[in-house]
Amino acid sequence: ERAMSLPSEEQIKQEHYRDARFTDKYDDIWQSVGKCVFCDLREKYVFFEENGVVMTVSLFAYIDGHFMIVPRRHVRSPKELTQLEWDTVRKFSYIAKKLIKDVHGVKGMQLLQKDGSNAQSTVDQHLHFHCVPFDAPDLSVWNYRKLKHTPLENVALYRQARKKIVRTARKYEDEYAQPYALPIFCDAVIVNDRQEVLLMERSKDATMMPPHDTLPGGHVDDFGRTIEQELVREILEETGLTVDPDELQLVASRIDEVTYAKSSPHLNVRYGQRVKFVYNTYRLTGVASDAPLRSGDDAARLYWQPASEALVSPKLTPALQESI
Ligand SMILES: [Zn+2]
Repeated sequence: ERAMSLPSEEQIKQEHYRDARFTDKYDDIWQSVGKCVFCDLREKYVFFEENGVVMTVSLFAYIDGHFMIVPRRHVRSPKELTQLEWDTVRKFSYIAKKLIKDVHGVKGMQLLQKDGSNAQSTVDQHLHFHCVPFDAPDLSVWNYRKLKHTPLENVALYRQARKKIVRTARKYEDEYAQPYALPIFCDAVIVNDRQEVLLMERSKDATMMPPHDTLPGGHVDDFGRTIEQELVREILEETGLTVDPDELQLVASRIDEVTYAKSSPHLNVRYGQRVKFVYNTYRLTGVASDAPLRSGDDAARLYWQPASEALVSPKLTPALQESI
């Protein structure tokens, strides 16, 4: 219906693409391609790009309006995406849904990614996400089979694989976790008028691996406030001390990694989760040694320790001792 004047040869090719799925010609076409079509994307089909990720129409569309989100880089799986690429896919999937509604008047979208050859993706070597307008459920009719497992048997099978889950999570942290979007963590060396440092034993569900004591502190959660205001909130929650943010002095800012001891109630397993942070350490001096303390949040117990003892305490990590 749109007036597009194409040479008749090109028009015939375009209609061939359009009808290929419906006429079962797609499989024949596919055999003859033989190279990675997504490494060799034709720009005339691309309609948006950011951060090395494109939105491109599908030559062999499942349904009118079908398009794809494709990273330019030849990667096979979402785990290989950089944080920026992944965020872009997330953003594009949002745009995609709005676009399908606006252009085609279809309110639903299926975001589909086929991983691995058993899932029968013909281009499974180059990651891509299908954005498929979902106007009727006839595109997702499954060939239902007689099943072997009940729901409880299924969950039991996956829970039995707890070692695999934890090992794979660790492997992901080793090989694919990307430090592009680091959370911000801050803690405080709080020193009283007797040159003692305030330390905390961590509560059961906030222990480190291996277990050790820490300074009061925590994550920046509210980015509408300053880092110092966030630290003041953490200090209040964990120690009961009310601190003026202006009195906090930044003494170290670094990229660091901690290992939290996690326990999964579903898998009944304890494991270490490594997280990288931008790690800011502040110093606060002159706190009254008799100031009332009230442990809360991640702090199970608070204690003052002479700085000289803290420096050799087996309950503290070398990194923390360096902060002190
Ligand atoms: Zn490729």
